[in-house]
Amino acid sequence: MSATVKSLRQKGIEILTKTEYNNPSLEVELIICYLLDVDRVYVYTHPNRKVDDQIVDKFDKLIGKRKDGYPLQYILGHQEFMGLDFKISEGVLVPRPDTEILIEKIIKSYDHIDKETINIMDIGTGSGAITLSLAYYIKNSYVYSIDISEQAIKVAKKNCDVLNLQDKVEFIHKDILEGFPKIDKKLDVIVSNPPYIPSGDIEGLQVEVAKYEPRLALDGGEDGLIFYKYITTHAHELLAVNGLLAYEIGHNQGEEVKELMEMNGFKDIEVIKDLSNNNRVVIGRRR
Ligand code: GLN
Repeated sequence: MSATVKSLRQKGIEILTKTEYNNPSLEVELIICYLLDVDRVYVYTHPNRKVDDQIVDKFDKLIGKRKDGYPLQYILGHQEFMGLDFKISEGVLVPRPDTEILIEKIIKSYDHIDKETINIMDIGTGSGAITLSLAYYIKNSYVYSIDISEQAIKVAKKNCDVLNLQDKVEFIHKDILEGFPKIDKKLDVIVSNPPYIPSGDIEGLQVEVAKYEPRLALDGGEDGLIFYKYITTHAHELLAVNGLLAYEIGHNQGEEVKELMEMNGFKDIEVIKDLSNNNRVVIGRRR
């Protein structure tokens, strides 16, 4: 008997229900949509459409991968962030909804400022989610976007082209721990969602993160703080007086990062919570 949309959906849900993912039916439907190139309503309006064997094979492979923890976004190839659609592939961290809090805070502080250019530096480009949403929503912004991973810069450049933001972004391939890039402007904002998981804790993360997302984007050194320490102590080299330093942090790093900023002469420091009421963002201004 040949498979139909409905039978595939049921088979997929049965398999993914045995996993820890909390929305098997949504995930299965999205995978079906991806394979048939249809939107989600179609799954409900065409339950009896026959699906040929080739597609069934692909479906089985993808559901199997997903069952093993392979991130859904790597299968579908994209993720929404700040209302924009980002291409995502292996080698870049999947943008998280919590990071939107960091972006919203920066946009609120800068989208009305009457200055020719708001100069921003994003450290750890990844897919470009932070860089490109700031470039998109802050009209007079210019973003210097740094990543150690060539693969990440490739993905981010693709996203930059899709959003048509080429004139507002400069990508810099660099290890920030070897020094800030030389630029001839003072920055209004330095933003970073750096790797912040202590090296020894990575294996204990959810399997989809630990096994499939890039270690380079997660590993924050022995104490998880290596990037905060480096960036906070060097920020004055490029950050203008009153310029904003804005970090995403791990849920238990609020106090330590706040202290780091205090020790390095930052003012107006705020620790901001995420949707699950965990500390997630720390911001401060250069004195
Ligand atoms: N937020 C990621 C996680 O859930 C970690 C991202 C990072 O290290 N910046 O594991």
